[in-house]
Amino acid sequence: MKKIILEESEIPKQWYNILPDLPSPLDPPLDPETKQPISPEKLKALFPEELIQQEMSDKRWIDIPPEVLDVYAIWRPTPLIRAVNLEEYLDTPAKIYYKYEGTAPPGSHKPNTAVPQAYYNAKEGIKKLTTETGAGQWGSSLAFAGQYFGVEVKVYMVKVSYLQKPYRRVLMETWGAKVIPSPSPYTKSGREILKEDPDNPGSLGIAISEAVEEALENSDTHYSLGSVLNHVLLHQTVIGLEAKKQLAKVKHYPDLIIGSVGGGSNFGGLALPFMLDRLSRDSCTRFIAVEPASCPTLTKGRYDYDFGDTVGFTPLMKMHTLGHDFIPPSIHAGGLRYHGMAPIISKLYDEGLLEAVAVPQTEVFKAAVDFARTEGIVPAPESAHAVKVVIDEALKCRQTGEQKVILFNLSGHGLLDLMAYQKYLEGELSD
Ligand SMILES: *Cc1c(COP(=O)(O)O)cnc(C)c1O
Repeated sequence: MKKIILEESEIPKQWYNILPDLPSPLDPPLDPETKQPISPEKLKALFPEELIQQEMSDKRWIDIPPEVLDVYAIWRPTPLIRAVNLEEYLDTPAKIYYKYEGTAPPGSHKPNTAVPQAYYNAKEGIKKLTTETGAGQWGSSLAFAGQYFGVEVKVYMVKVSYLQKPYRRVLMETWGAKVIPSPSPYTKSGREILKEDPDNPGSLGIAISEAVEEALENSDTHYSLGSVLNHVLLHQTVIGLEAKKQLAKVKHYPDLIIGSVGGGSNFGGLALPFMLDRLSRDSCTRFIAVEPASCPTLTKGRYDYDFGDTVGFTPLMKMHTLGHDFIPPSIHAGGLRYHGMAPIISKLYDEGLLEAVAVPQTEVFKAAVDFARTEGIVPAPESAHAVKVVIDEALKCRQTGEQKVILFNLSGHGLLDLMAYQKYLEGELSD
């Protein structure tokens, strides 16, 4: 079977929370001022109560509100597709499946968490959400989600992307969001950075500082983060829960699960429901997180407390990090240019439960083009990092003759990233 489809009634009704199943508890987030474990009270300036509870919950299953399921149903369940043509092209005995999250209106997995975040904030009476975006995938997902629940969305967009990537900005504005190039003159953080360097191109860390500052100063405004946090990975588990049901229909179970990692949410979303089986010793699946060689958070970063932003407004989290002042080189997989990694993914890596590899940009685009020419879908440059390692692993199976079942997350399509493809096809892309 090529494509495994679920009924709308088979959308999971609960998210899977891995916190109670981790081999050892996560280290608590610290207050940026006192460096002591942060009180939930203080987090209330940024997040609604239900998300704060989810962030620390010890309940394994958390109900998905019906209002959220209603919006999920616009594009969920997403298909699970067997990459038959790619398998033939690679002449591999491996069975390759991908969960395709590009069917969401914004084109990636990110609305899986944008929708519940907008919902819980609206329920608490919040009028406005601020956030940051790099290339625009997260900003467009939150803009998309905000309109269903009457929440205004203001996006601080990294200035180089604002200037170079107009289409996602237009998408955000079409969905009613306000988009500001960052660093901006509207916040203290932005003004200070501009005073030192009026031509500062911006970074995700700076944009987060601006968005957090605005939320801290306005009582009707909260802040929303599209990756890294426990509640974000929780919401993304709909991906893995669906994939599990889909694979069961063809009586397969993955030997290998692969995903790209920026902050860790699409990989976590696919992997965590299967990690549950690994932790209870019911499976010996291998998990591989793929990151860009130019922003090697897991493979080269240290495992330590660090801020999520540049200025130091956010709580400190124990995670793999390249340092909050690290500015990654400008690569086309903008969604993978983040200095930190989800504490959950960092912990699992530290415990030896998952592996990580870093891959260079040109090899990623070669894999992306091979995928487009066999399977048809043009992958997002972020997702193409996973494709690259899937191809490597499938070729190893050709050597050994193993019929491994490989499952990966095709986290988004690349139809708004064609400039990057053009550069690659013209031979102008470098590592
Ligand atoms: C944002 C993004 C990523 C990286 O973020 P994670 O939180 O690590 O998933 C990967 N793929 C796509 C398509 C994205 O938009």
